[in-house]
Amino acid sequence: MAERIELKWVPGHMDARGNEAADEAAKEAAMGDSSEKKKLPKQLRASDGIPVSVSAMRQKLTKDTSKAWTDSWTESPRYPKFCKFEKKGRGTNFEKLAGKLRRNQMSILTQLRTNHVPLNFYLHRIKRAENADCPHCPGIAEDVDHVLLNCSNYIQPRQTLQTRAGRKAASKRHLLSDKKGVKHLLEFLHGTRRFEKVFGTLWSEKDAKEREEESGEEDEEWRGEEEEAEEEE
Ligand SMILES: [Zn+2]
Repeated sequence: MAERIELKWVPGHMDARGNEAADEAAKEAAMGDSSEKKKLPKQLRASDGIPVSVSAMRQKLTKDTSKAWTDSWTESPRYPKFCKFEKKGRGTNFEKLAGKLRRNQMSILTQLRTNHVPLNFYLHRIKRAENADCPHCPGIAEDVDHVLLNCSNYIQPRQTLQTRAGRKAASKRHLLSDKKGVKHLLEFLHGTRRFEKVFGTLWSEKDAKEREEESGEEDEEWRGEEEEAEEEE
């Protein structure tokens, strides 16, 4: 009785026969133009049987995926690691930051904190990359530490980062959770262009302007805690 609908990605659009026709039909469907009910298989005719359009379906998929993602990582052994970047006691930094950052900025930050980030070290583990090496440094794993702190391919953006953050440029905790540190980090990541494909623009002129305006504000934390952070790392 239950019918299964299987969704598959088709790699690339070129030369796949029927692909363009399917594309056209999908576009029409996304515009709200769906087939007459009587042309549909019986189990798809019920009005609430399937999402009404491709974009609705895509939205639902995204929603389900992000819920699955949230569920899986809050239960994962990595979650405490994520929390380690949070200060105990007061409203979490993460919540405070969430209000100020764009969605893609928030995503990369979360992923960097949990190490589930589209860098070869992680991609290799989930079988999405042939090896774990940094594309610029053969034999060295491309993980979060490597990109943030060591990779020699990103000298220019790292110099900018060091100018902005000084000694704290080497503190992952500062970069991943301090209000100012996060902004310097986003500018750095944007400068590396390593995440551009997945996350788009991580740092804009508008962000730079806002940071400028905030630069008079007092440092919120980490004074005296830096040593502790360095010990942990
Ligand atoms: Zn490298």
